[in-house]
Amino acid sequence: MASDNKKHTVTHETIKRLDHAHLWHPFTPMQLWFEDDPVVIVSATGHDLIDDNGTHYLDGVSSLWCNVHGHNRPELNAAITNQLQQVAHTTLLGLTNVPAVLLAERLSSLVPAGLTRVFYSDAGATAVEAALKMALQFWQLSGRPSKTRFGSLVDAYHGDTLGAVGVGYADTFHRFYRTVLPDTLRLTPPHLLRWRNHLSQTEALEQAIAEATLNISEQADTLAAIIVEPLMQGAAGMWPHQPTYLRALRDITKKTNVLLIADEVATGFGRTGSMFACEQADITPDLLCLAKGITGGYLPLAATVATDEIHAAFLGSPQEGKTFFHGHTYTGNPLACAAALASLDLFISDQTLEKLGPKIANLTQQLDHHIRPLPHVADVRQCGVMIGIELAADTKTRTPYETSERMGAQVCLEARHRGVIIRPLGDVVVLMPPLSIHHSEIDRLMSVVRDAIVAVTSGDRT
Ligand code: PMP
Repeated sequence: MASDNKKHTVTHETIKRLDHAHLWHPFTPMQLWFEDDPVVIVSATGHDLIDDNGTHYLDGVSSLWCNVHGHNRPELNAAITNQLQQVAHTTLLGLTNVPAVLLAERLSSLVPAGLTRVFYSDAGATAVEAALKMALQFWQLSGRPSKTRFGSLVDAYHGDTLGAVGVGYADTFHRFYRTVLPDTLRLTPPHLLRWRNHLSQTEALEQAIAEATLNISEQADTLAAIIVEPLMQGAAGMWPHQPTYLRALRDITKKTNVLLIADEVATGFGRTGSMFACEQADITPDLLCLAKGITGGYLPLAATVATDEIHAAFLGSPQEGKTFFHGHTYTGNPLACAAALASLDLFISDQTLEKLGPKIANLTQQLDHHIRPLPHVADVRQCGVMIGIELAADTKTRTPYETSERMGAQVCLEARHRGVIIRPLGDVVVLMPPLSIHHSEIDRLMSVVRDAIVAVTSGDRT
């Protein structure tokens, strides 16, 4: 065991044995997992994760898209430990607590104008579930009981609980649950039209808007809401769309009396370059889903933020039964809310967003110079610090690699051997560094990713 890990007394072999005996890892082919020696993370500092061997790895995906200001930040640690001296957990059912209230007020002032009511939960999927149920109940309370369906984009991803799967859907992830999923309107996003029909960007955008306009207008009587990942469809493989498309969805839904739910679980808190992606399209959705970066990536917390209009529909005497009967045990957890408040403070004191523009530009430039020209890179997609690098066996014909080759996973493994943690989505290599990443670390990230892609695609691995 490395010397900087003296506190950690359980041996690597013991952790490995117990992990293999008792853990079930998410999104992980477990049979393959048993064949590998696991990387056991025991600590972290700045943008590095450190394993039980003392090896440092650059956190190239922000610990699953959530770390914002780096790991082990004294300010965030202090906020959590200070709150810990007061109370670790108390319920929001029938009681309130200081950090939950202060955070709700702070969030209301940050999110697009008009969103005022914060409903807490603890994961991105639960923020989405709450939004979907609010939308359904809103229309029934408003005398429009036929509005019971949802619309979403093809290949959308909104989380893994059943309601969220119903509006998402990726065949690989969700085919076993198809039979219980509701009938959902699927809108084709611009990029799919573009590649499928060989259209220009402008033509694809026009067609996508026309399709959305027609379908939403025709089905408005049965539609409760359209849900969208603003500007970047993340888990679909990092597919961006123009702000114009998002604005068009807002216009159509407003005209046809359908609610718009913006799922900013991944895009929120700076990832696209602005605090929220909706700002770039200058829109206010009716419901906004937040999670991941809300606590700076420290503790599980999520929020569904609603307009006054939606919240008002739920008001009435208890006998009227309009209450939103929904909640989770750890809703509004004070430790998580204290971390979120401290994270928002860091956005100001670190000038996080102010410093982000040059980092995004640096990433773009390095992607253009070092990644895009590689012979097996078919496409590079970027929105802010959200990046997808698509690998292909033949980039001209865009012929994918055989799935069995697991090229995306192989590139990520190679990068790990070279000291960088990243994760693939199929053959799309995803990069999503913390917002606080330094320019020198961007250089390292890019050079490792380039070397890993070259090594794997040319068969010259370490
Ligand atoms: N919505 C979006 C857009 C996401 O990217 C994710 C997670 N990647 C979720 C919802 C689900 O979040 P969680 O994993 O916290 O449930």
